Amino acid sequence: VWAQLPQGPPDAILGITEAFKKDKHPKKINLGVGAYRDDKGKPYVLPSVVEAEQRVVQQYLDKEYAGITGVPDFTKAAALLAYGPDSAPLKEGRIAITQSISGTGALRIGGAFLQRFYPGAKAIYIPTPSWANHKAVFSDSGLEIKQYRYYNKDTIGLDFDGMVADIKNMPKGSIILLHACAHNPTGVDPTEDQWRAISDAVKEGEHYPFFDMAYQGFASGDTDKDAFAVRHFLAEGHLPCLAQSFAKNMGLYGERVGAFSIVTASAEEKVRVDSQIKIIVRPLYSNPPVHGARIASTILNDPALNKQWLGEVKGMAERIITMRALLKENLEKLGSKQKWDHITDQIGMFAYTGLTAAEMTKLAEEHSVYATKDGRISVAGITSENVGRLAESIYKIKG
Ligand code: PMP
Repeated sequence: VWAQLPQGPPDAILGITEAFKKDKHPKKINLGVGAYRDDKGKPYVLPSVVEAEQRVVQQYLDKEYAGITGVPDFTKAAALLAYGPDSAPLKEGRIAITQSISGTGALRIGGAFLQRFYPGAKAIYIPTPSWANHKAVFSDSGLEIKQYRYYNKDTIGLDFDGMVADIKNMPKGSIILLHACAHNPTGVDPTEDQWRAISDAVKEGEHYPFFDMAYQGFASGDTDKDAFAVRHFLAEGHLPCLAQSFAKNMGLYGERVGAFSIVTASAEEKVRVDSQIKIIVRPLYSNPPVHGARIASTILNDPALNKQWLGEVKGMAERIITMRALLKENLEKLGSKQKWDHITDQIGMFAYTGLTAAEMTKLAEEHSVYATKDGRISVAGITSENVGRLAESIYKIKG
Protein backbone atom coordinates (compact mmCIF):
# COMPACT_ATOMS: atom_id res chain seq x y z
CA VAL A 1 0.00 0.00 0.00
CA TRP A 2 2.76 2.41 0.89
CA ALA A 3 5.17 1.57 -1.94
CA GLN A 4 4.76 5.02 -3.48
CA LEU A 5 4.74 6.92 -0.19
CA PRO A 6 7.43 9.60 -0.25
CA GLN A 7 9.82 10.03 2.66
CA GLY A 8 8.87 13.10 4.67
CA PRO A 9 11.53 15.61 5.71
CA PRO A 10 12.77 15.27 9.31
CA ASP A 11 11.60 17.76 11.92
CA ALA A 12 14.15 20.60 11.97
CA ILE A 13 14.44 20.79 15.75
CA LEU A 14 14.56 17.03 16.35
CA GLY A 15 17.29 16.85 13.68
CA ILE A 16 19.38 19.23 15.78
CA THR A 17 18.93 17.02 18.85
CA GLU A 18 20.11 14.01 16.82
CA ALA A 19 23.25 15.84 15.65
CA PHE A 20 23.87 17.03 19.20
CA LYS A 21 23.61 13.51 20.60
CA LYS A 22 26.15 12.20 18.09
CA ASP A 23 28.70 14.94 18.88
CA LYS A 24 31.54 13.72 21.16
CA HIS A 25 32.64 17.19 22.36
CA PRO A 26 32.68 17.12 26.20
CA LYS A 27 31.33 20.66 26.42
CA LYS A 28 28.85 20.58 23.56
CA ILE A 29 25.86 22.92 23.92
CA ASN A 30 22.29 22.34 22.73
CA LEU A 31 20.33 25.56 22.24
CA GLY A 32 17.81 24.08 19.82
CA VAL A 33 15.01 22.84 22.02
CA GLY A 34 12.49 25.21 23.53
CA ALA A 35 12.36 23.77 27.00
CA TYR A 36 13.54 25.43 30.19
CA ARG A 37 16.71 24.15 31.84
CA ASP A 38 18.05 25.03 35.27
CA ASP A 39 21.49 26.56 35.73
CA LYS A 40 22.98 23.07 35.64
CA GLY A 41 21.37 22.47 32.25
CA LYS A 42 18.85 20.01 33.68
CA PRO A 43 15.07 19.83 33.10
CA TYR A 44 13.25 21.61 35.91
CA VAL A 45 10.17 20.30 37.65
CA LEU A 46 8.67 23.21 39.55
CA PRO A 47 8.37 22.55 43.31
CA SER A 48 4.76 23.85 43.14
CA VAL A 49 4.06 21.20 40.50
CA VAL A 50 5.61 18.47 42.69
CA GLU A 51 3.45 19.60 45.60
CA ALA A 52 0.27 19.85 43.51
CA GLU A 53 0.87 16.45 41.94
CA GLN A 54 1.31 14.86 45.36
CA ARG A 55 -1.97 16.39 46.49
CA VAL A 56 -3.71 15.09 43.36
CA VAL A 57 -2.30 11.58 43.80
CA GLN A 58 -3.17 11.46 47.50
CA GLN A 59 -6.81 12.14 46.73
CA TYR A 60 -7.05 8.82 44.84
CA LEU A 61 -9.44 10.46 42.38
CA ASP A 62 -11.18 8.20 39.91
CA LYS A 63 -10.07 8.04 36.31
CA GLU A 64 -13.46 8.70 34.75
CA TYR A 65 -13.62 10.77 31.58
CA ALA A 66 -13.67 14.51 31.93
CA GLY A 67 -16.39 16.20 29.88
CA ILE A 68 -15.58 17.16 26.29
CA THR A 69 -14.31 20.55 27.45
CA GLY A 70 -12.17 19.12 30.25
CA VAL A 71 -11.78 19.77 33.96
CA PRO A 72 -14.05 22.73 34.83
CA ASP A 73 -11.99 23.95 37.81
CA PHE A 74 -9.00 24.11 35.50
CA THR A 75 -10.61 25.99 32.62
CA LYS A 76 -12.23 28.49 34.96
CA ALA A 77 -8.88 29.26 36.56
CA ALA A 78 -7.09 29.36 33.20
CA ALA A 79 -9.54 32.00 31.94
CA LEU A 80 -9.03 34.03 35.10
CA LEU A 81 -5.25 33.86 34.67
CA ALA A 82 -5.41 35.07 31.08
CA TYR A 83 -8.17 37.66 31.20
CA GLY A 84 -7.72 38.86 34.80
CA PRO A 85 -10.20 39.28 37.65
CA ASP A 86 -11.48 42.61 36.31
CA SER A 87 -12.35 41.28 32.88
CA ALA A 88 -15.88 42.34 31.94
CA PRO A 89 -16.48 39.48 29.48
CA LEU A 90 -15.42 37.01 32.17
CA LYS A 91 -17.69 38.55 34.81
CA GLU A 92 -20.54 38.65 32.33
CA GLY A 93 -20.13 34.98 31.38
CA ARG A 94 -19.25 35.79 27.76
CA ILE A 95 -16.15 33.62 27.40
CA ALA A 96 -16.45 30.11 26.00
CA ILE A 97 -13.50 27.94 27.04
CA THR A 98 -12.36 24.38 26.59
CA GLN A 99 -9.36 22.47 27.88
CA SER A 100 -6.99 21.52 25.05
CA ILE A 101 -4.00 19.33 24.28
CA SER A 102 -1.61 22.10 25.34
CA GLY A 103 -1.10 25.18 23.18
CA THR A 104 -0.85 23.27 19.91
CA GLY A 105 -4.21 21.61 20.50
CA ALA A 106 -5.75 24.96 21.39
CA LEU A 107 -4.54 26.44 18.11
CA ARG A 108 -5.87 23.42 16.25
CA ILE A 109 -9.35 23.72 17.79
CA GLY A 110 -9.30 27.42 17.00
CA GLY A 111 -8.26 26.71 13.42
CA ALA A 112 -11.07 24.18 13.02
CA PHE A 113 -13.64 26.54 14.56
CA LEU A 114 -12.69 29.44 12.30
CA GLN A 115 -12.54 27.22 9.24
CA ARG A 116 -16.06 26.00 9.95
CA PHE A 117 -17.74 29.16 11.17
CA TYR A 118 -15.82 32.35 10.47
CA PRO A 119 -18.02 34.37 8.17
CA GLY A 120 -15.16 35.96 6.24
CA ALA A 121 -12.34 34.51 4.14
CA LYS A 122 -10.89 31.24 5.43
CA ALA A 123 -7.40 32.66 5.70
CA ILE A 124 -5.18 33.52 8.64
CA TYR A 125 -2.36 36.05 8.70
CA ILE A 126 0.67 35.00 10.73
CA PRO A 127 3.80 37.05 11.41
CA THR A 128 7.00 36.68 9.37
CA PRO A 129 8.59 34.73 10.89
CA SER A 130 6.38 32.76 13.24
CA TRP A 131 6.57 29.56 15.25
CA ALA A 132 7.15 26.97 12.52
CA ASN A 133 4.15 24.88 13.56
CA HIS A 134 1.63 27.70 13.02
CA LYS A 135 1.68 27.16 9.29
CA ALA A 136 1.16 23.40 9.63
CA VAL A 137 -1.54 23.64 12.31
CA PHE A 138 -3.61 26.21 10.46
CA SER A 139 -3.25 24.71 7.01
CA ASP A 140 -4.21 21.29 8.41
CA SER A 141 -7.27 23.08 9.82
CA GLY A 142 -8.18 24.10 6.28
CA LEU A 143 -7.18 27.75 6.54
CA GLU A 144 -5.12 29.52 3.94
CA ILE A 145 -1.88 30.92 5.38
CA LYS A 146 -0.96 34.52 4.70
CA GLN A 147 1.73 36.61 6.33
CA TYR A 148 2.35 40.05 7.69
CA ARG A 149 5.68 41.80 8.26
CA TYR A 150 6.99 41.49 11.81
CA TYR A 151 10.75 41.17 12.11
CA ASN A 152 13.28 43.64 10.72
CA LYS A 153 16.55 41.84 10.17
CA ASP A 154 18.49 45.09 9.85
CA THR A 155 17.54 46.31 13.31
CA ILE A 156 17.08 42.77 14.71
CA GLY A 157 13.88 44.26 16.12
CA LEU A 158 10.23 44.83 15.31
CA ASP A 159 9.23 46.06 11.88
CA PHE A 160 6.48 48.08 13.50
CA ASP A 161 5.69 50.28 10.49
CA GLY A 162 5.63 47.26 8.17
CA MET A 163 3.39 45.36 10.55
CA VAL A 164 0.85 48.17 10.91
CA ALA A 165 0.91 48.89 7.17
CA ASP A 166 0.24 45.21 6.43
CA ILE A 167 -2.62 45.11 8.95
CA LYS A 168 -4.12 48.17 7.28
CA ASN A 169 -3.82 46.53 3.87
CA MET A 170 -5.49 43.26 4.83
CA PRO A 171 -8.98 42.75 3.42
CA LYS A 172 -11.64 43.89 5.91
CA GLY A 173 -12.44 41.26 8.51
CA SER A 174 -9.24 39.23 8.16
CA ILE A 175 -8.14 36.76 10.82
CA ILE A 176 -4.80 37.78 12.36
CA LEU A 177 -2.68 35.63 14.63
CA LEU A 178 -0.78 37.57 17.30
CA HIS A 179 1.83 36.21 19.70
CA ALA A 180 0.60 37.60 23.02
CA CYS A 181 4.12 37.80 24.50
CA ALA A 182 7.61 36.35 24.02
CA HIS A 183 7.35 36.03 20.24
CA ASN A 184 8.77 32.74 19.00
CA PRO A 185 11.25 32.58 17.27
CA THR A 186 12.45 36.20 17.47
CA GLY A 187 11.97 37.19 21.13
CA VAL A 188 10.87 40.55 19.73
CA ASP A 189 7.65 41.94 21.25
CA PRO A 190 5.79 45.19 20.58
CA THR A 191 5.93 47.73 23.41
CA GLU A 192 2.67 48.56 25.21
CA ASP A 193 2.28 51.70 23.10
CA GLN A 194 2.86 49.71 19.95
CA TRP A 195 0.23 47.19 21.08
CA ARG A 196 -2.21 50.08 21.45
CA ALA A 197 -1.54 51.13 17.86
CA ILE A 198 -1.81 47.52 16.67
CA SER A 199 -5.16 47.21 18.44
CA ASP A 200 -6.37 50.38 16.69
CA ALA A 201 -5.25 49.08 13.29
CA VAL A 202 -6.94 45.72 13.89
CA LYS A 203 -10.11 47.52 14.94
CA GLU A 204 -10.03 49.83 11.94
CA GLY A 205 -9.85 46.84 9.61
CA GLU A 206 -12.57 45.01 11.59
CA HIS A 207 -10.12 42.12 11.75
CA TYR A 208 -10.48 39.09 13.99
CA PRO A 209 -7.59 38.71 16.48
CA PHE A 210 -6.41 35.23 17.46
CA PHE A 211 -3.93 35.36 20.35
CA ASP A 212 -1.39 32.64 20.93
CA MET A 213 -0.20 32.91 24.53
CA ALA A 214 2.31 30.13 25.10
CA TYR A 215 4.52 32.02 27.57
CA GLN A 216 2.35 33.91 30.08
CA GLY A 217 4.59 34.78 33.03
CA PHE A 218 7.57 33.22 31.38
CA ALA A 219 8.48 36.36 29.47
CA SER A 220 8.65 39.06 32.12
CA GLY A 221 8.12 36.98 35.26
CA ASP A 222 4.75 38.66 35.77
CA THR A 223 1.61 36.92 34.48
CA ASP A 224 -0.39 40.18 34.43
CA LYS A 225 2.25 42.09 32.51
CA ASP A 226 2.56 39.32 29.94
CA ALA A 227 -1.22 39.38 29.45
CA PHE A 228 -1.18 43.10 28.61
CA ALA A 229 -1.92 42.69 24.91
CA VAL A 230 -4.84 40.30 25.42
CA ARG A 231 -6.39 42.44 28.16
CA HIS A 232 -5.87 45.67 26.24
CA PHE A 233 -7.63 44.24 23.19
CA LEU A 234 -10.56 43.21 25.42
CA ALA A 235 -10.71 46.63 27.03
CA GLU A 236 -10.83 48.10 23.53
CA GLY A 237 -13.88 46.02 22.72
CA HIS A 238 -12.26 43.36 20.53
CA LEU A 239 -13.76 39.87 20.78
CA PRO A 240 -10.68 37.71 20.19
CA CYS A 241 -9.99 34.03 20.65
CA LEU A 242 -7.06 32.72 22.64
CA ALA A 243 -4.79 29.68 22.80
CA GLN A 244 -3.11 29.11 26.18
CA SER A 245 -0.33 26.70 27.06
CA PHE A 246 0.91 25.62 30.47
CA ALA A 247 3.92 23.83 28.98
CA LYS A 248 6.39 26.61 29.70
CA ASN A 249 5.01 28.56 32.65
CA MET A 250 4.34 25.40 34.69
CA GLY A 251 6.92 23.19 33.03
CA LEU A 252 4.12 20.76 32.18
CA TYR A 253 5.39 20.11 28.63
CA GLY A 254 4.57 16.42 28.32
CA GLU A 255 1.37 16.64 30.36
CA ARG A 256 -0.20 18.65 27.51
CA VAL A 257 -2.17 21.21 29.49
CA GLY A 258 -3.79 24.09 27.64
CA ALA A 259 -7.00 25.92 26.92
CA PHE A 260 -8.79 27.49 23.99
CA SER A 261 -11.27 30.29 24.56
CA ILE A 262 -13.48 32.58 22.52
CA VAL A 263 -14.69 35.93 23.81
CA THR A 264 -18.24 36.42 22.64
CA ALA A 265 -20.68 39.33 22.56
CA SER A 266 -23.21 37.93 25.05
CA ALA A 267 -23.82 35.10 27.51
CA GLU A 268 -26.39 33.75 25.07
CA GLU A 269 -23.87 33.74 22.19
CA LYS A 270 -21.36 32.02 24.45
CA VAL A 271 -23.71 29.07 24.93
CA ARG A 272 -24.00 28.56 21.18
CA VAL A 273 -20.23 28.90 20.68
CA ASP A 274 -19.68 26.36 23.47
CA SER A 275 -21.98 23.87 21.78
CA GLN A 276 -20.04 24.11 18.50
CA ILE A 277 -16.66 23.81 20.24
CA LYS A 278 -17.88 20.53 21.72
CA ILE A 279 -18.98 19.31 18.30
CA ILE A 280 -15.49 20.05 16.97
CA VAL A 281 -13.61 18.43 19.87
CA ARG A 282 -15.69 15.25 20.15
CA PRO A 283 -14.52 13.60 16.88
CA LEU A 284 -10.97 14.98 17.23
CA TYR A 285 -10.06 13.32 20.55
CA SER A 286 -13.36 13.02 22.45
CA ASN A 287 -12.11 14.58 25.68
CA PRO A 288 -8.79 15.70 27.12
CA PRO A 289 -6.47 13.94 29.61
CA VAL A 290 -7.16 14.83 33.25
CA HIS A 291 -3.91 14.43 35.17
CA GLY A 292 -2.02 17.54 34.05
CA ALA A 293 -5.16 19.67 34.24
CA ARG A 294 -5.68 18.54 37.83
CA ILE A 295 -2.12 19.61 38.67
CA ALA A 296 -2.57 23.01 37.02
CA SER A 297 -5.97 23.44 38.64
CA THR A 298 -4.56 22.67 42.09
CA ILE A 299 -1.87 25.31 41.61
CA LEU A 300 -4.20 27.96 40.20
CA ASN A 301 -6.96 27.45 42.76
CA ASP A 302 -4.94 27.23 45.99
CA PRO A 303 -3.88 30.76 47.01
CA ALA A 304 -0.66 29.69 48.77
CA LEU A 305 0.41 27.30 46.03
CA ASN A 306 -0.50 29.87 43.40
CA LYS A 307 1.74 32.41 45.10
CA GLN A 308 4.57 29.90 45.26
CA TRP A 309 4.13 29.10 41.57
CA LEU A 310 4.24 32.79 40.60
CA GLY A 311 7.56 33.03 42.44
CA GLU A 312 8.89 30.03 40.55
CA VAL A 313 7.78 31.43 37.18
CA LYS A 314 9.54 34.64 38.08
CA GLY A 315 12.64 32.64 38.96
CA MET A 316 12.69 31.00 35.53
CA ALA A 317 12.12 34.31 33.74
CA GLU A 318 14.84 35.99 35.77
CA ARG A 319 17.37 33.24 35.11
CA ILE A 320 16.76 33.72 31.39
CA ILE A 321 17.07 37.49 31.67
CA THR A 322 20.35 37.04 33.59
CA MET A 323 21.73 34.68 30.92
CA ARG A 324 20.91 37.24 28.22
CA ALA A 325 22.86 39.87 30.13
CA LEU A 326 25.78 37.49 30.72
CA LEU A 327 25.97 36.48 27.08
CA LYS A 328 26.06 40.11 25.98
CA GLU A 329 28.59 41.01 28.68
CA ASN A 330 30.88 38.14 27.69
CA LEU A 331 30.75 39.09 24.02
CA GLU A 332 31.59 42.68 24.87
CA LYS A 333 34.44 41.62 27.15
CA LEU A 334 35.92 39.59 24.31
CA GLY A 335 36.00 42.82 22.31
CA SER A 336 33.23 41.96 19.87
CA LYS A 337 32.66 44.70 17.33
CA GLN A 338 29.01 43.79 16.89
CA LYS A 339 26.15 45.39 18.77
CA TRP A 340 24.47 42.87 21.03
CA ASP A 341 21.72 45.01 22.60
CA HIS A 342 19.07 42.92 20.88
CA ILE A 343 20.05 39.96 23.06
CA THR A 344 18.91 41.83 26.17
CA ASP A 345 16.09 43.76 24.44
CA GLN A 346 14.40 40.56 23.34
CA ILE A 347 12.23 38.61 25.72
CA GLY A 348 11.20 35.05 26.51
CA MET A 349 12.81 31.74 25.89
CA PHE A 350 14.44 32.55 22.57
CA ALA A 351 16.94 35.03 21.25
CA TYR A 352 17.36 35.84 17.60
CA THR A 353 21.09 36.34 17.38
CA GLY A 354 21.22 37.72 13.85
CA LEU A 355 23.65 34.93 12.91
CA THR A 356 23.16 33.61 9.36
CA ALA A 357 22.49 29.99 8.42
CA ALA A 358 26.12 29.59 7.34
CA GLU A 359 27.32 30.99 10.67
CA MET A 360 25.00 28.64 12.55
CA THR A 361 26.45 25.70 10.62
CA LYS A 362 29.95 26.84 11.59
CA LEU A 363 28.83 27.18 15.19
CA ALA A 364 27.76 23.53 15.17
CA GLU A 365 30.62 22.09 13.13
CA GLU A 366 33.49 24.02 14.67
CA HIS A 367 32.25 24.69 18.18
CA SER A 368 29.66 21.98 18.91
CA VAL A 369 26.99 24.60 19.63
CA TYR A 370 23.67 23.50 18.19
CA ALA A 371 20.63 25.64 17.37
CA THR A 372 18.29 26.29 14.45
CA LYS A 373 19.66 27.68 11.19
CA ASP A 374 17.58 30.85 11.46
CA GLY A 375 19.98 32.04 14.17
CA ARG A 376 17.56 31.40 17.01
CA ILE A 377 19.05 30.19 20.28
CA SER A 378 17.13 28.93 23.27
CA VAL A 379 18.34 31.15 26.10
CA ALA A 380 16.90 28.57 28.49
CA GLY A 381 19.77 26.27 27.47
CA ILE A 382 22.44 28.79 28.54
CA THR A 383 24.01 28.29 31.99
CA SER A 384 26.57 30.13 34.13
CA GLU A 385 28.99 27.41 33.12
CA ASN A 386 28.52 27.37 29.34
CA VAL A 387 27.87 31.06 28.68
CA GLY A 388 31.61 31.85 28.46
CA ARG A 389 32.29 29.16 25.89
CA LEU A 390 29.15 30.15 23.96
CA ALA A 391 30.25 33.79 23.78
CA GLU A 392 33.74 32.74 22.62
CA SER A 393 32.28 30.53 19.92
CA ILE A 394 30.03 33.29 18.62
CA TYR A 395 32.91 35.79 18.82
CA LYS A 396 35.22 33.51 16.81
CA ILE A 397 32.61 33.41 14.04
CA LYS A 398 31.23 36.96 14.10
CA GLY A 399 34.15 38.93 15.51
N1 PMP B 1 2.78 28.66 20.31
C1 PMP B 1 4.04 29.04 20.38
C2 PMP B 1 4.41 30.38 19.86
C3 PMP B 1 5.01 28.21 20.93
O1 PMP B 1 6.27 28.61 21.00
C4 PMP B 1 4.62 26.94 21.43
C5 PMP B 1 5.63 26.03 22.05
N2 PMP B 1 6.80 25.85 21.37
C6 PMP B 1 3.27 26.58 21.34
C7 PMP B 1 2.38 27.47 20.78
C8 PMP B 1 2.66 25.31 21.81
O2 PMP B 1 3.35 24.44 22.55
P1 PMP B 1 2.62 23.31 23.38
O3 PMP B 1 1.72 22.59 22.43
O4 PMP B 1 3.73 22.47 23.88
O5 PMP B 1 1.86 23.98 24.45
